[in-house]
Amino acid sequence: MYKNALRGGIRTAKQAWRLKNEIGKLNLELAKANTDFEQHLCEETAHLNELLSSKQFVKVQKQFYRDYSSVSLGAPLKSSDAPLLGDLCNQYRAILAYTSADVVPGQKQGQPQHQQIRGAHKQQETRMQQQEEVGGMAQKLEFKRLPTNVVPKHYELLLQPDLEAFTFKGKTIVQVQVKKPTKQIVLNALDIIIEEAQLEFECTKMKADRIVYSTDAETATLEFEKVIPAETAGVLQMSFTGELNDKMKGFYRSKYFSASGEERYAGVTQFEATDARRCFPCWDEPAIKATFDITLVVPKNRVALSNMPVKKEDDLEGGLRRVRFDRTPIMSTYLVACVVGEYDFVEGKSEDGIIVRVFTPVGKREQGQFALDVATKVLPFYKDYFNIAYPLPKMDLIAISDFSAGAMENWGLVTYRETFVLVDPKNTSLMRKQSIALTVGHEIAHQWFGNLVTMEWWTHLWLNEGYASFVEFLCVHHLFPEYDIWTQFVTDMYTRALELDSLKNSHPIEVPVGHPSEIDEIFDEISYNKGASVIRMLHDYIGEDDFRKGMNIYLTRHQYGNTSTEDLWTALQEASSKNVAEVMSSWTQYKGFPVVSVESEQKGKTQRILRLSQRKFTADGSQADEDCLWVVPISVSTSRDPTAIAKTFLLDKPSMEVVLDGVTDSDWIKINPGTVGYYRTRYSKEMLEQLMPAVKNMELPPLDRLGLIDDMFAMVQAGHASTADVLALVDGYRNETNYTVWTAITNSLTNLHVLISHTDLMEDFHRFGRNLYEPVAQRLGWEPREGENHLDTLLRSLVLTRLVSFRSNDVIEVARQRFRSHINGTQPLPADLRTTCYKAALQDGNEQIFEEMLALYRTTDLHEEQDRISRALGCSTDAKLLRRVIDFAMSGEVRAQDSVFVIVAVAINPKGRDMAWEFFKSSNKQLLERYQGGFLLTRLIKYLIENYASEEKAKEVEEFFRVTQIPGCERTVSQAVETIRLNAAWLERDREKLSTYLKSV
Ligand SMILES: [Zn+2]
Repeated sequence: MYKNALRGGIRTAKQAWRLKNEIGKLNLELAKANTDFEQHLCEETAHLNELLSSKQFVKVQKQFYRDYSSVSLGAPLKSSDAPLLGDLCNQYRAILAYTSADVVPGQKQGQPQHQQIRGAHKQQETRMQQQEEVGGMAQKLEFKRLPTNVVPKHYELLLQPDLEAFTFKGKTIVQVQVKKPTKQIVLNALDIIIEEAQLEFECTKMKADRIVYSTDAETATLEFEKVIPAETAGVLQMSFTGELNDKMKGFYRSKYFSASGEERYAGVTQFEATDARRCFPCWDEPAIKATFDITLVVPKNRVALSNMPVKKEDDLEGGLRRVRFDRTPIMSTYLVACVVGEYDFVEGKSEDGIIVRVFTPVGKREQGQFALDVATKVLPFYKDYFNIAYPLPKMDLIAISDFSAGAMENWGLVTYRETFVLVDPKNTSLMRKQSIALTVGHEIAHQWFGNLVTMEWWTHLWLNEGYASFVEFLCVHHLFPEYDIWTQFVTDMYTRALELDSLKNSHPIEVPVGHPSEIDEIFDEISYNKGASVIRMLHDYIGEDDFRKGMNIYLTRHQYGNTSTEDLWTALQEASSKNVAEVMSSWTQYKGFPVVSVESEQKGKTQRILRLSQRKFTADGSQADEDCLWVVPISVSTSRDPTAIAKTFLLDKPSMEVVLDGVTDSDWIKINPGTVGYYRTRYSKEMLEQLMPAVKNMELPPLDRLGLIDDMFAMVQAGHASTADVLALVDGYRNETNYTVWTAITNSLTNLHVLISHTDLMEDFHRFGRNLYEPVAQRLGWEPREGENHLDTLLRSLVLTRLVSFRSNDVIEVARQRFRSHINGTQPLPADLRTTCYKAALQDGNEQIFEEMLALYRTTDLHEEQDRISRALGCSTDAKLLRRVIDFAMSGEVRAQDSVFVIVAVAINPKGRDMAWEFFKSSNKQLLERYQGGFLLTRLIKYLIENYASEEKAKEVEEFFRVTQIPGCERTVSQAVETIRLNAAWLERDREKLSTYLKSV
């Protein structure tokens, strides 16, 4: 039986790990194997070896790390506990011994030990469970959502954190509705211990006899002696305890310093996507909504916040205070929030009477003012835009010192990383202010789109994030028209999405996801940036009025409920009478996007025939494997009126012809004006030649100049055009004045810089760069002009920083002098120019400069300034100093949330590239311990490896990640390795011509 059972049952690594975990929890010490048994074990080991090299294994291993860490309630993972084959086999031995007791003689001897450990009941039940799993595992281990036979209607939730012992206790009283008779209630719980569970219904009180946890499913099953009848309303009471962990998820601790420099901790929650279950037992799925009465018991002198305003406060014994909050509306668990700590705040009121507060570290109240101004204006803006009032009476924003993401939209209590909310007027750059405005706009948009109407399941996450990432621009455009933010959308969101989405290892916007480990992986640039870009395209296709009307239909129809992507299409379709679902489905369901090739032919004096065709764009220029056909909304402009749309139509076939009237043979034609359509355009040579003068004389609007150059560079990378030709085109942008166009050029040249760093052409490339950027730098100068426009300020930092890296002696000289005056206090640098000057000083600086920078870091307590300094350190060219940067990043002086970015700065410096990679190879276990997977580690891995450009390196990286499993970074590694190969091919293809070109200019 055991042989068959294993053959039939353990086919996947997932199954193997699942068994391993179950067994591990029971602490089995059963393995007294006989020879016969050993032989079978050998066979299974061979099978396991196969599994270990499979892709699936990598995925499952991520889960293992999660499980492991939850077993120890937050203790860091020790490298010696990493899953090794031998370890796995030992566990296997135990499984075999245990589950095959009836057929393998002599195996029962271990049983009494078990009973001593865990008690007979539990042991037997686990055994049954395992036997069942071994037999029918394939079905059993599939991820399942919670059963719907019992659902919560209302939670009373009490939490009492201990900010010194880093634990918390809690109690919840849940009103539940029983829909089908059952003896079990299954809900989510992870890393918490439910001490008691009791159900009361129809004058009956029943205690749960058993509480069975599944770490893999992240559930607790409460088992009752008697059946709970259907159609019953019950009250489920549970008390529980947990650890205030340091993982920045669930209910966690966040370190800060008091005014006197004493180290203290706040208790903070971060639940999205699936971590409410780490704080209290609950039905932790977005569609299982309920109302909440939250109560916090906290030390008297601490601020206590939650989603709703305070209803009542009482003093308790022992220096404690009980704070009760008003009842929330019906909402999802991932939006529940609590914060307990020491904060100051500023308060305001929106014009429609909502109280808005921004909580800051103690003594930094004034740094909340900018976010407060933005938030008080944003609330009425959305109220008006959606035509639905903000549903809560208050809106709190709070800066959290340890925070892994940028911000989190908890309903009524939005939490932020400090750099995403605090503005210090003297030390905050304009760029940072702008991203704070966008972030506040984003999170507040979620209060409607996400919180009031929530995705039914995480597969539709893109809907939340794509939409909020679109609408944040709409809102900032309204509040700060001078930012010209829509133009920046294209370089910040759109082109980044296209770049990633052209890789074979991209994924569609809508991804079926189940288990939490899969959900974490989709909070990526595809969900956010591509999501926002296709919504922008749709907005443009149906027009602002209908889009707005559709939003109102959607939000009104589904308020306090849940939706899927189709529900939004239905509403927008109703509002616009356009076939939204048909147009949009190809964009959400296929990965990648098309390249639209276009040729034109003049017919008579005033007609031009356009011949368009579409095919999937691939970064390496190869024929795509899949046969995808998009429904592409196309618009066209001409030199007759560069800012007007001359024609729009849908390209829904592989190719088509369109006739443009009123166009003479000297007119240029631009496809995708405004760079709104999510596709690349490839013009015929003649069409491109006609367009170029319009770039030079800036007759073509900025977004079109930008889109054109970005498309051209994509064609170069794909091998459809030569780098030298495109650089000659870039030269045509020398008179360019627009910040965003310069950003696009800079981004493209940064990619090229990576290639050049693998050649001996660096000097020539620097000269090319200086020639290109110097005219605009001269125009702008170092000093901001009176009343200068916002974008010129941004452009100045961009251009001067580029010239520092292109080794412009003049710029470097001035930058160093300014740095000196800043350091000795004679003239502090404006925030916008600090990065430029820091880099100029550090780039060829000695140890003394390095020490000065560290001293500067240590004297500031503004997170933004610490970021700026620590990220500039990596531009040093001295290997000894770069080594120190890495050590510094890993020291206690840099918060775990920030170290990654400091190391990235070293990695993207060609001089530090190998060092950073070697460091990672030797310290990956330590890094994994620190981040336990998660997006910070993924980010690091991406930048460490994607800048290589040889097949050998691609192989080395692949081999490293094959042997060293880092859970949760599978896709990133494949994407980065793909990029290495693209770089290698690009370099090989263009090296010679590029050399000739660069040496000639
Ligand atoms: Zn968001």
